[in-house]
Amino acid sequence: MKNIVYIFFLAFVFACGSGKDVSKNEENIDYAVKYANTITAKDLGNHLFTYASDEFEGRDTGTPGQKKAVNYLKDFYVGQGIGSPIAEGDYFQEIKNEWFAKNSRRGRNLKDSENVLAFIKGTDKPDEVIVISAHLDHVGVRNEKVYNGADDDGSGSVALLEIAEAFKMAADAGKGPKRSILFLHVTGEERGLLGSKFYTENPIFPLANTVCNLNIDMIGRVDQRNKENPNYVYLIGSDKLSMELHNLSEAINKKYTKIKLDYKYNDENDPNRFYYRSDHYNFAKHNIPIIFYFNGTHVDYHKDTDTPDKIYYELLRNRARLVFHTAWEVANREGRITADKLEEKKEETK
Ligand SMILES: [Zn+2]
Repeated sequence: MKNIVYIFFLAFVFACGSGKDVSKNEENIDYAVKYANTITAKDLGNHLFTYASDEFEGRDTGTPGQKKAVNYLKDFYVGQGIGSPIAEGDYFQEIKNEWFAKNSRRGRNLKDSENVLAFIKGTDKPDEVIVISAHLDHVGVRNEKVYNGADDDGSGSVALLEIAEAFKMAADAGKGPKRSILFLHVTGEERGLLGSKFYTENPIFPLANTVCNLNIDMIGRVDQRNKENPNYVYLIGSDKLSMELHNLSEAINKKYTKIKLDYKYNDENDPNRFYYRSDHYNFAKHNIPIIFYFNGTHVDYHKDTDTPDKIYYELLRNRARLVFHTAWEVANREGRITADKLEEKKEETK
């Protein structure tokens, strides 16, 4: 009995002592890690099994299935209390069929469609905006088969939702990003990068204030080349306009996510030319630094077999966390990253 009392006493003293340590630790918490950890394989899976279900009919631009997709995205943001930068409650940037007809041969027969935008305002430098993007559309139904597009680009779409949720939780706890973040779900990618073309021609925030674009297109699968070491992702374009962005991305991965960053497709001479094949290119065209996150192609690419049961959710989580950490650093660091490579080139040609 005595011993027990003594132990209780000690435990009490210890608890009081460690109380101080707890508050000290509070200051040392790396909030980037705390909120990155809210991005989970389970949540990503829950979203994707709906977003890439047959009910969404392959999300072809302008179709009823695509409208279900945009409403799913919108409802998520409304539920999370994440606002729109367009107008209160209006998350859709509308694109008329006339614009599609004018801007792409492949877009000629498209019905009206929309990009989906959500926004978290920066605390210190709200005018400087980081754009995180993924395309919301896929190729629809062909020969009565639904092309679910779970990887392409359901994976990027649901990653965006989870990244937005993580930033929102941080913001609600007083740890919001210093620069603003735009979550941009673009339509018409499969019809020729149309939604991102429309956004960059009709930006909600001036392109001059757009710090960078982190674009996600297919991050839920593993390709042949990396099947032995599947915790990888291809980075494309990170060093094309800004060494600062490239170096930051490398350092962040080394510190936090430790994914193998594969630069195979970053090679200018690679015949696949992936740098030109997803939405980040419309930002790069305007000299905005970009990073494109991609898992490479696989046997189910653009087939009706790209289904949510084939996604590696832990890998999807790791890659989503890499994008989150990179965005967190770009948003919170002291200086704005610049297109330093472009400046160099200008100097050289003077
Ligand atoms: Zn895609």
